[in-house]
Amino acid sequence: MQYLPINIDIKNKPTLVLGGGSVAYRKIKMLLKAGTQITCISLSFEPPIETLAQQQKLHLIRADLLAESVHYLTALYLSDFRLIISATDNDEIGARVFQIGEENQILVNTVDEKKWCNYITPAMVDRDPIMVAISSAGSAPVLARNIREKIEQVLPKNLGRLAEKAQSLRHKVNQLPLSFTLKKRFWERFFSSSHATDLINSRAVPDDDKLIDDIHNQVDKGGEVLLVGAGPGDPELLTIKALRAIQEADIVLHDRLVSNDILELIRRDAEIISVGKTQGFHSVPQDEINSLLVKYALQGNKVVRLKGGDPFVFGRGGEELAQCQSAGVKFSIIPGITAAVGCAAYAGIPLTHRDHAQNVLFVTAHCKNSIDVLDWPALARKRQTLAVYMGLMKSAVLSKELINHGRKACTPVAIIENGTTQQQRVIRGQLSQLTELINKHKVKSPALIIIGEVAALNENLAWFINDHPKITTTNQLKIA
Ligand code: SAH
Repeated sequence: MQYLPINIDIKNKPTLVLGGGSVAYRKIKMLLKAGTQITCISLSFEPPIETLAQQQKLHLIRADLLAESVHYLTALYLSDFRLIISATDNDEIGARVFQIGEENQILVNTVDEKKWCNYITPAMVDRDPIMVAISSAGSAPVLARNIREKIEQVLPKNLGRLAEKAQSLRHKVNQLPLSFTLKKRFWERFFSSSHATDLINSRAVPDDDKLIDDIHNQVDKGGEVLLVGAGPGDPELLTIKALRAIQEADIVLHDRLVSNDILELIRRDAEIISVGKTQGFHSVPQDEINSLLVKYALQGNKVVRLKGGDPFVFGRGGEELAQCQSAGVKFSIIPGITAAVGCAAYAGIPLTHRDHAQNVLFVTAHCKNSIDVLDWPALARKRQTLAVYMGLMKSAVLSKELINHGRKACTPVAIIENGTTQQQRVIRGQLSQLTELINKHKVKSPALIIIGEVAALNENLAWFINDHPKITTTNQLKIA
């Protein structure tokens, strides 16, 4: 982060604008909105600035900044300005003012000259008192402006009215006998209520006491658990429902497979707990996870249990919900895109295909007891695709048994590591070479193995470009 975004209370504080043209006028209007006491120095002023001065909204000093720069800039040095905007097109003035600002801890912004700024102004969407600031840290102002236009279109013009209403209700709401969590829920309910819509659309709303009563009655006082699938990695593969759930959660318990990009989307003040499991090493034992879910929900929290892929596909989601069910905790389930579906799509491998595979099996090589319980004759059947989860450690047994039970040694395979993310790698070969490929390319978890003729289609259908080396294939690995 190059700049720290902060909101400064500058009401009634002295600020200085250098320059009297249209740019200076724009800046003056902004400073007036923030209620500052403005002094403006220039040789001449455009009429709108003169008018503001006549209305006593600012103080003008007529001076040639260049000719008398030392004198006037020294005057600056002595004065008590909190913020200076230099809106002249003179580089020397910019440099001097910047230096004075740096030496005296005054905020200085020189318009369009990043090097003479110790703060920069973001693009703004103004729904006072709601303010959205967009900054590209000076790298792409036009992009920031594009983003601002998009936000302008989305945010209702009267949004500020809603914030003002919240402000006026706050004191009374604080008197309600509600816990911190339930108060938060009160506000969530309020902002999505029909009263909020009425305020935004300038329609009448009940008086404050009635309005508070109404929302209070609607607040669900009990906690709940939402078992949410986060998809395979790309945050844009989250469902809309999953996104809403993580943005409304009080507590999120997530496992290791959930990517950082997705964790970034969780509401800022939610408690985030990693119960990350890696294969063979459970950082928080499953029983404890189950108990935590119940405990937090019984405290009245909205608890999101966030799992990679889909929670019901090799996700132990069933076990966690069983405990909620027996403790009488309300729960719901939001499915996610499972790794096989996500990885196959991002690798350009259709899991079924009329010419190659009539069915697809989702299997794991990592069973509770042993890999021997797998139905090898069924798995080795022709014209089907196997999508193998957690298969890296058992790859040798996997390829040996499948070949022993009739699948051809030259059956195409694809290993997809970190599927759907910027780190995705797709490695292709033949079934007999599975372990060799994993070792040679040092494949790490999470990786999904796709076995079947469809794996070879990656050669023509690969489309997902990331920064990593292109798909590894050797000629001899092509299917006959
Ligand atoms: N519930 C998850 C699966 C959990 S089991 C789902 O529906 O996807 C964990 C295994 O899923 C990993 O060992 C790996 O085989 C697979 N997996 C999950 N995310 C993956 C990814 N981004 N790329 C490749 N494989 C992945």
